[in-house]
Amino acid sequence: MPAKYEMTIGGRQIPATNYRETRNPADGSLVGLCPVATADHLEQALETARQAFGRWRHSTHSQRKAACEAVAKVLGEHSRELAALVTCEQGKPLKGLGSEFELAGAAGWATYTASMDVPDRTLEATASKRVTLTHLPVGVVASITPWNWPLLIAVWHMLPALRTGNTVVIKPSPHTPLSTLRMVELIAEVLPPGVLNVLSGDDHLGDLLTQHPAVAKVVFTGSIETGRRVMRNAASTLKRLTLELGGNDPGIILPGTDPAGIAESLFWGAFINSGQTCAALKRLYVHDDMYEATCGALASYARSVIVGNGMDSATQLGPLTTERQLQRVSELVEDAKRDGARVIAGGTAPGGPGYFFPVTLVGDAENGQRLVDEEQFGPALPIIRYTRIEDAVRWANETDYGLAASVWGTDRNRLAEVAEQLEAGTVYINKHAEVAPNIPFGGIKSSGLGVEFGVEGLQAYTTLKVVNAAT
Ligand code: NAD
Repeated sequence: MPAKYEMTIGGRQIPATNYRETRNPADGSLVGLCPVATADHLEQALETARQAFGRWRHSTHSQRKAACEAVAKVLGEHSRELAALVTCEQGKPLKGLGSEFELAGAAGWATYTASMDVPDRTLEATASKRVTLTHLPVGVVASITPWNWPLLIAVWHMLPALRTGNTVVIKPSPHTPLSTLRMVELIAEVLPPGVLNVLSGDDHLGDLLTQHPAVAKVVFTGSIETGRRVMRNAASTLKRLTLELGGNDPGIILPGTDPAGIAESLFWGAFINSGQTCAALKRLYVHDDMYEATCGALASYARSVIVGNGMDSATQLGPLTTERQLQRVSELVEDAKRDGARVIAGGTAPGGPGYFFPVTLVGDAENGQRLVDEEQFGPALPIIRYTRIEDAVRWANETDYGLAASVWGTDRNRLAEVAEQLEAGTVYINKHAEVAPNIPFGGIKSSGLGVEFGVEGLQAYTTLKVVNAAT
C-alpha cells in the first residue's frame, strides 16, 4: 500500500474522498497519495484559521518567538525524513546543495525568524501630543508555494506570518505536495490548533484561495503568469500581497577575470537544483578575451558533476521535477541550436526513465534567442560573447525580469560601477544565488512585488496602526 498523506486543519488530520498519485521524477515510482481538497475543505480551513486568528493575534511576542523556536526544533528532529521525501517527490539530491541543505536552511530560517521583531515605535511624545505606531497582524495568510524548493519556501512564507501573529493556510504545488503535508502535520503539533493549516489539490485551489474574502494576505512564489492572476484575484478585497516571481538572472564576467578560479562558483550559481531556482544564473555574458577559456573551464567542471537519482549519495544533480519542464528545456536548447548556437556540453535528453537532462552549456548564444530571453528553469546555460561592457549591461537589462544579477571580476571600482547599472532586486559581486534570513530579497519589474527576509520582509506581514493622542 502506498503511503497516504493527509491535510491538517485545526491541528487534526482530515481525510479526503479523492487522492492522487505523486511519482518520483527520477524513476516514475510511486511516492505516495496526495489528498485533493474540495470547496468544503477550503471553507473549513479558512474558517478554522479565522477563528484561530482571533486568539493568536493576542499572543505575546515571547509566545510567538517560542512557537517559531519549537517549529525550528521539529524541523531539525525530522530533517532526515523530510529531506528524503523532498528528494523522492522533487528529484534534488539528498547531499550537496540538495534536500538536506534545504532542511538545514528551513530550520535555520525558523530559528532566525524567531529572533526577529518589528517593535512598536513612539513617533512623537511632547507636552501636547503622543503618537505611537503599532505593527498589527493582517489576519489569515494564504501561502502558495512552487515545486522547486518546496519546504524552504514554505518556511519562508509561514514563519514570518506566524511570528507576527497571523494564521496560515498553505497550499503546496501539486507536483510536490507530500513533503509540505507531512511537514505541516509535524509542525502543527507544537502550535495552537488552527494557527497553521494545509490544503492540497490542483492549481484551481489556488484560484479559490486567492479570491476568498476570508484571506487578508497572499504570499505567493511561482511564475510571473500565475503571479499576475493572483494579483487580479486579490484585487476584489484588496488583499495584501507578496509576490516572488520568475527570474532570468544575467551574470557578466569582466575582462581580466581568471575563468578557472571562478568556474566552480559560476557553475553552482547556475546549476543549483538543476537550474530550477528562481535566482539562479540563467544567462552568462563573457568578455571576448576570456570567452573560450571560460567556456572551457565551465565544461571541464561540468564533466566532474554526477547527475543521477537523488537518493544515491554520490549524486550532485537530480532530474527535472516535471515532464513539462524537461520538454521546455529540451525545446529551448533545440531552438538555440537551430539558431546557430554551439553546444559545448550536454545538449540532449538521454530518454527515460526519469526526467533527466544533462548539464548543458550553450556557447555563441545571443539575445533574441529564446534560451537567452526566457527563463529556462533547467540545467542549460547560454553563454553570450561581448566586447563592450556597455553592450553587456544593456543586454542584461533588456528584459522584464529583475530578480537578481551578478558581476564577476577583480577591479573593485569596475565591479561597483557595473553593479550600480544592473537592474535587479539583488546584485551579487563575485557570487550568485545566495539568500540569507537577514537580507531582504525580492524582484523588481515583473519578477515580483515586495520582499521577503530581513525586517522589511517581516513587516510585510503586518499592517500599521497609528494612535495620535492629544495630551
Ligand atoms: P506556478 O506559477 O506554475 O505555480 C506556483 C504555485 O501557484 C503552485 O502552488 C500552483 O498550484 C499555484 N497556482 C497555479 N495556478 C494558480 C492560480 N490560478 N491561482 C493561484 N495559484 C495558482 O510556478 P511553478 O512552476 O510551481 O514554479 C516555478 C516558477 O516559480 C519559476 O518561474 C520560478 O522562477 C518561480 N520562483 C520564484 C521564486 C522567487 O523567490 N522569486 C522562488 C522560487 C520559484
